[in-house]
Order: sequence, then structure tokens, then C-alpha cells
Amino acid sequence: MRAILLIPIYLSVVFLPLALAWAQGRRPRPMLDELATGAGLLALSIILAEFLLLGRFRSVTTRVGTDVVMRAHQLLARSALVLAMVHPFLYRPNQPPSIPGYQTRHMGISYDFVEVWPGIVAFLLLPALVATAIARSHLRSRYEIWRMLHGFGAALIAAFGVLHALRAGRYSDDPTLAAVWIGMLVVALSALAYVYVLKPLLTLRHPWTVQSVTPVALKTWELSLKPARKFTFPFRAGQFAWLNVGHSAFSLNENPFSISSAPSDTGKISFIIKELGDFTNTVGSIRPGTRAYIDGPHGHLTIAGHDAPGVALIAGGVGIAPMIGIMRELGATGDKRPVTLLYGNRVEDQIACRAELEQMSKRANTNIVHILSDPPAGWTGETGIVSPKVLSAHFGQPQHKDWVYVLCGPPKMLEAVEDALIDIGVAPAQILSERFSYD
Ligand SMILES: Cc1cc2nc3c(=O)[nH]c(=O)nc-3n(C[C@H](O)[C@H](O)[C@H](O)COP(=O)(O)OP(=O)(O)OC[C@H]3O[C@@H](n4cnc5c(N)ncnc54)[C@H](O)[C@@H]3O)c2cc1C
Repeated sequence: MRAILLIPIYLSVVFLPLALAWAQGRRPRPMLDELATGAGLLALSIILAEFLLLGRFRSVTTRVGTDVVMRAHQLLARSALVLAMVHPFLYRPNQPPSIPGYQTRHMGISYDFVEVWPGIVAFLLLPALVATAIARSHLRSRYEIWRMLHGFGAALIAAFGVLHALRAGRYSDDPTLAAVWIGMLVVALSALAYVYVLKPLLTLRHPWTVQSVTPVALKTWELSLKPARKFTFPFRAGQFAWLNVGHSAFSLNENPFSISSAPSDTGKISFIIKELGDFTNTVGSIRPGTRAYIDGPHGHLTIAGHDAPGVALIAGGVGIAPMIGIMRELGATGDKRPVTLLYGNRVEDQIACRAELEQMSKRANTNIVHILSDPPAGWTGETGIVSPKVLSAHFGQPQHKDWVYVLCGPPKMLEAVEDALIDIGVAPAQILSERFSYD
């Protein structure tokens, strides 16, 4: 299924409750009351559909990329928040039940706490959930704690939101719409259960053990795993996986890392990991033989299936990890296409797998360009950042327009490089990029 088809599927799910309400053909109320109800219906369906955008469903992430899924998740959560916040305030104050056949609660906002308390709970929890997600990097709590509370909070909002619709909703007392709300809630909670219960259960069948931990640059390690039992792990060069080392398969201690080994190198999987926080700072002390679990592969940062005449790899810092995987695979499969790697770092010691890159640069049609922003005395390579000038110097020829461009690095670098590539005539569809952060 093509990625573009996911959009109409998503829109159909989100607008289904609104369409079912409209199809009931009830006598319309004043415009503001109808808008208030519409905002509430749409907010709730967006919230329930958010559970399908958790970034852990391979059928979605491998098509559009986890970056896009997480961006959509964040944008839609903000939209649901706005709709939910205006929902109660658009209603006119309760009107006397002058229209025969209409219950009072269906005419406008109800001040009956017993009737609307689930809605109030969801109304108060939602801004807290969105605010703590936006401000997450400034919070003191560990990522794993935040993630657990985020999932739990979202489940509560979904459950209270549906309860509110069923108890107080004008259109949701229709059996079809009520059944749709319950169905959507069941799917949403099942999505959470799939990620946190079923997936770990499945990974239990495919345990890995740490084979080696090797320093490859300053505070950067390559961690290699081998299957603890005989099984295969198909992936495409450049994809990533969630890695859990030394914890129970059900632990929330798992982190996403790009796979740096080549798919052709069967029987092992490797990750290049830079020290950054709680887990990554401990990588250097992980002992061979430690049990590990992997959820993946995820992501679409792969040139597999792209028949472009040349491959441009542009990496900043540890963004080199998927590029190494892609270059290893190109070598292993004897791919003869021209390849240029632009690899930016601050200092020389940060260049990962330097000796191996040196060897790779001896392959035919392979050009590896190191760029340092803080070069040592006597450095003869490029200096500064991966700037538009550097990009146009290496990819400014007419033949480069048809190449595939793979980008990975700090978010600011990715934005600047994408803009610069588009400026020199590269079509956005030929640019693949992945950020190492969802914030
Ligand atoms: C798709 C993707 C691929 C990545 N590939 C690599 C790679 O190949 N090599 C590499 O060194 N780093 C990679 N990263 C970054 C890496 O995941 C984080 O550096 C790592 O998770 C930090 O964990 P920590 O416990 O050491 O630090 P913490 O202090 O716990 O977290 C530091 C930051 O890392 C991020 N992070 C932590 N845990 C998770 C999680 N479970 N899910 C998402 N983000 C999390 C958060 O932004 C957090 O603020 C990748 C990230 C993503 C999203």
C-alpha cells in the first residue's frame, strides 16, 4: 500500500463520528451549539486516532518514516487540544426546553456536574498531557517515567472522553455512533496493549546477546549483538530499531538506534551509540553475553528500492550510524553506483569508524568528505559546517539532480541541508531524512 493512501484512511477514521452525527439528520440547533458539538466530536476522534500514531507500527513507520508519524502525532494532539478547549465554551448557556422532544441537556451546555464529570476530567487532563509533552526536555523526570505517564494519561483521557460522549453527547446517544466510540476506544487501548504487552511478548521469542562493545570515536561505541537462538531479523540498511539491553522484555528502558551493520552480514546486528544520557553513558561498560531485545526494524531511511543513479549521504555527528550501515551494504552487495558521503563533526576525535571509512573511500566511485567545525592545526579537509556552499560544490552538477539524498544529523543541520538541496534543484521526493529526536 502506498504511503499516500494512509491520509484518506486516517481522515475517514477521524471524520467518521462527525459524519455519523450529521447522517442522523436531527433538527439543527443554533450554529454555535452545533459548532460546539462538532468541535467535541472531532477532538475526541482525533484523540482516539492518536493511538495509531504511536510511532511503533511498522506498517506506518516504514512507509512514511517515524519523523513524519511523530510530527503528525504532535500536530494533531495540538489540534485536538484547541478543539477540546473551545468545545464547552461555544455552547450557549442552557436554554429552557422550549422545543418539544428535546431534552434540556441537548439544548446547550449542562452545568450538571454528575452528568459531565468525565468530560471535565478529560478536559483538565488533556492540556496537562500536551504541555508536559511540549516541555518534556525541560522536565527533570527520566524519559521512561514521562513515557509511562504520557501513555497512561492518554488512555485516561480517551476513556473519560468516550464516557463523556456516551453520557452527555447529543448525537452519541445514537446506538451506531455509541458503538463507533466504543470500538474506537477498544482499538486505541489495544494499540497501547500491543506496544507495551504484545510486542514485548513477541520479542521474548527472539532474544539477543551482546557480542562486543567497541569504541569507534570519542564517547561513541559500536555495540554488536547476535541472536541467542537461531532466527533471522530482516531489515534494510539505514533502518533503526528500539534496543533494550539488560532489562526485562517488558521494561520501558528501550531506546531507538539506527542499525549500523549491513543486512547482508546476517547473524549479527550492530548499533553505533553516542554517550548522551542514562543508558547511552553506560554502553561502554556493557558486558558481552548480556541479554538484549530488539523491536524493529522501523523507519524509512533506506535506499533499498531507490534506483537513483547515485547516492549522497550527508551526516552530522552520530547521524553517521545509518550511513555506515548503508555503505557497508553497498560494499557487500557490490553496488557500483557513485557514492558521496559528507560527514560533519566538531573535532577530529568524533569521526566514527575512521579507519573503515578510509578503506571504503578506496572503492571505485566513492568519495568521503570530512568536515570539521573545530579543525586541528594542519587539517587539510573541509572546515566549517555542511553549508549550502559545500553542498553545491559536491552536488551542484546536473547529474546530481537525480541522485537519492540521505540525511541524518542534528535537526538544525537537516533543515538547512534540505533547503539547500532543494535550492540547487533536488526534488523533495529524492531527499530522505531522519532526526534523532522527537521533540
Ligand atoms: C530514530 C532514531 C534513531 C536514533 N539513532 C541513534 C543512533 O544510531 N545512535 C545514537 O547514538 N543515537 C541515536 N538516536 C538517539 C538516541 O535514541 C538517544 O540518544 C538515546 O535514546 C538517549 O537515551 P539515554 O537513556 O542515554 O538518555 P536520556 O537522558 O534518557 O534521554 C536523552 C534524550 O534522548 C531521547 N530519548 C531517550 N529515550 C528515548 C526513547 N525511548 N525514544 C525516543 N527518544 C528517546 C529523548 O529526546 C531524551 O530527551 C536515535 C534516535 C531516534 C529517534
